[in-house]
Amino acid sequence: IVCGETMKINEIARNKKVTFSYEIFPPKPNSPVLSVYESLDKLSAQRPDFISVTYGAGGSLVSNKTLVLSSYIQDRYNIPSMAHLTCINSSKQYILAVLEQLKANGVYNVLALRGDKTPDITPAGDFNYASELIEFIKNNSPEICISAACYPEGHIDGGFEKDIQVMKDKYSCGAEHFISQLFFDNSHFYRLMDRAAQLNINANIEAGIMPVLNKNQIERMVSMCGCSFPEKFRKMVERYQDDKSALLQAGINFATEQITDLLSNDVKGIHLYTMNRPEVSEKINENVRYLVDYLNA
Ligand code: FAD
Repeated sequence: IVCGETMKINEIARNKKVTFSYEIFPPKPNSPVLSVYESLDKLSAQRPDFISVTYGAGGSLVSNKTLVLSSYIQDRYNIPSMAHLTCINSSKQYILAVLEQLKANGVYNVLALRGDKTPDITPAGDFNYASELIEFIKNNSPEICISAACYPEGHIDGGFEKDIQVMKDKYSCGAEHFISQLFFDNSHFYRLMDRAAQLNINANIEAGIMPVLNKNQIERMVSMCGCSFPEKFRKMVERYQDDKSALLQAGINFATEQITDLLSNDVKGIHLYTMNRPEVSEKINENVRYLVDYLNA
């Protein structure tokens, strides 16, 4: 396994004009673990620049899956991985142990997050915000490349201007790379890029793209992240929502158009939320791969 410097996301980003990366999630309890490995076989064949693995809100079992999958991606496919890590429900001691485990497994990229507050879990009290986790990682494991989340339409509890300042805090605390929340109107992302540049946030910002798969997912997105839907998107959903395959195809086309426009506007990275659906990312990859390779040539 190649690890350390060569696998760090900020290095990869520095050496490329544009990066194209994927997000996967560990299998939920009771779902067959095999399917994630089958998915990964297909996703890795699409040669993303790196694959990030989400982290559940709850306990160590889930975090262990994040660790296992992150290290598996590097060992099996030689593709750099990034482990998501949330802090709101964790003690400093626990986070230290996770960082040690990640490093012991060659995982040197972490997406440092607060995590969502859940009514059934009392926050551990050691961390209130992602910026505190970022500072903690920077102080305790400076060899780790830290990424952080940013919000083209503001965080659901915050607001655009407040969250741009939060982004600056995260940068000042040690975040070297950002991945955005999903959005369907690229103008939100361009506004974020402009404000970040004004605030001298000198880090790569990847655009998080979520292809629409079905109606339930759209409803979940609104309640979880509060993103807005442009007229064009709304019309598309209305038109095709009664036919699963038609909506899926329209969603792939929409994501392809969104990415094409982002690439034309000098966006430095695309992070595709694959939802563990390799057949969907495969089509999007086919549609945009030539452009990404052309820009990096
Ligand atoms: P923060 O940056 O801490 O912000 C959270 C809120 O606190 C915001 O409203 C902000 O305005 C406010 N805030 C921040 N700092 C301050 C301050 N100093 N004073 C006052 N207010 C402040 N969740 C998971 O559980 N697992 C995952 O794997 C996961 N992956 C994600 C990947 C991406 C790319 C994104 C965008 C989100 C992901 N999330 C994940 C969701 C994330 O945990 C939630 O959006 C969470 O509510 C906020 O996380 P954050 O790291 O942005 O928090």
